[in-house]
Amino acid sequence: MNERFARKMSEDTVRGDTRIVAGFGAIFCAAHHGGRARTRLHSDAATLGVYGKQVPVLCDECAEHIRYAERRRAYCPKDPKPFCAHCDTHCYRADEAEWQRQMMRFAGPRSVLRGYALPGIRHALEARKWRKKMAAAAAENTAAQRSAKDKEQ
Ligand SMILES: [Zn+2]
Repeated sequence: MNERFARKMSEDTVRGDTRIVAGFGAIFCAAHHGGRARTRLHSDAATLGVYGKQVPVLCDECAEHIRYAERRRAYCPKDPKPFCAHCDTHCYRADEAEWQRQMMRFAGPRSVLRGYALPGIRHALEARKWRKKMAAAAAENTAAQRSAKDKEQ
């Protein structure tokens, strides 16, 4: 673990984000990999005490994804960090991005019932706001194209 990772993991927002992604990962893993051996996560963030006493329980495969997510969160260049799904910097490798997308889609709605009420709701609201923004931008784009066409005529 390098010094930058440790320093970032001492920030409250980074710790909070890391706990959420790993907690969501544990919800996903419990539902999909119940038949596998699952253990408390061993990772750099866990070593730093980011998860406190609630260390997420994961299979080896999901643990590897979460260790990757920990590093991406620690090295995120954006401050404040937007929701990853809405970010214009794609720092995740394609296969990791796809895993995270599926995992969040599954765990997001279920997280509200599993002790993550606030992050779950916050995430849903943020997603709605973003969809509205995208729809407005698309409408504006169409209007701009139309007025450009009008000027040509
Ligand atoms: Zn798993």
